[in-house]
Amino acid sequence: MYRASDLKKYEYFKNIDYNFVLDSLTGTIARTYILDFAKDLIKKNEEFTMAIFDIDNFKMINDTYGHKCGDVCLEEVGNNLVSYINDDGLVGRFGGDEFIIILFGKRNYDEVRAYLFDLFNGEQVIKRNYYYGDKEIFITATVGCASYPKDARNYDELFLTIDKTLYRGKTKGRNCFIIYVEEKHKNINVYNKDSSRLSYIFGGIRNIYIENFKKSSDVIIKKIIEYCAKELGLCEIAFIKNDRTVISTNPNSKHEIKDECIDLLDSFIIEDEEVYIPSDVCLLRNRVPQVSKFLDEKRIITFAESRIKYNKKIYGFTLFFENQIERIWQDSHKSLLMYLDNLFYIILKTKKS
Ligand code: GH3
Ligand code: MG
Repeated sequence: MYRASDLKKYEYFKNIDYNFVLDSLTGTIARTYILDFAKDLIKKNEEFTMAIFDIDNFKMINDTYGHKCGDVCLEEVGNNLVSYINDDGLVGRFGGDEFIIILFGKRNYDEVRAYLFDLFNGEQVIKRNYYYGDKEIFITATVGCASYPKDARNYDELFLTIDKTLYRGKTKGRNCFIIYVEEKHKNINVYNKDSSRLSYIFGGIRNIYIENFKKSSDVIIKKIIEYCAKELGLCEIAFIKNDRTVISTNPNSKHEIKDECIDLLDSFIIEDEEVYIPSDVCLLRNRVPQVSKFLDEKRIITFAESRIKYNKKIYGFTLFFENQIERIWQDSHKSLLMYLDNLFYIILKTKKS
């Protein structure tokens, strides 16, 4: 929580009644003032970086542990952010589970990256447990950010660019930060929600299927997984067929895998389920040493898998691999895995390989 003395050193806050400046729950700067502060910096043409910090799946924390617990987490995350940012900038509450971070001064991409990297890996604010009674709540967040005047000419543009990066971070799987890079992010349509994005991907898959209808099953599956890996920003998608051969988006992947690997993949998925998504890969690594070996060999951090199985016969596995961030898999990934399995089953049954 900010004290009056923390803020009085800034010209902007000198004549503002301290009692109204802070958000009552989190003790960070209230929305009106932090936004006005940003406008003031722009008016004075001062360089700064602004980030929106949005807690991941916060609704679930409220739903699981209650609203009071949600409040406690918000308050503590706010406090920790304020301590962490310290004199490098200011922290405000944008609303709900979103905070605004303003970092003073000119920073290039690498400097912003290093700063956010430390925030994400220092375990002071996020990627750590918060406590409510005897409950342990692991909190992650997604951050989108952009710099003025490098990325935006005015306040509205700055917000739009940040929205795009935050949207990119959330659709990428959350628990990550995205720094605005015009060539990469300018065409993002922030009004696309998760579900419409999924329909968009389903539509893309259908087009690939139709366009390649006359080709072999392996070619169609390869084209579909290449498209999905690109759309989801995954490092690799692999489809393992029942003859142990592998179709992968990674040209360096092994073309064939061992029976033990098939057994291992099979063992994760309980009988009636189609999909396995590890909720904690570290735990899984500790419990099943073969998993560690498999992940380390492939230099990946996490994975999700689905299995095509009818009448006790396995027809294949689809695997999503991630090598850069500890992606938190979403329902949309689960839906896509299930969709791919159904489609691949039909392709395998109706086409030559
Ligand atoms: P996402 O990862 O996409 O950000 O998912 P999310 O669940 O965090 O989704 P969203 O940002 O839409 O939901 C934020 C939730 O925060 C909705 C609301 O129930 C909750 N919330 C907003 N303000 C407060 C508050 O003051 N206290 C508590 N406990 N919850 C709040
Ligand atoms: Mg959220």
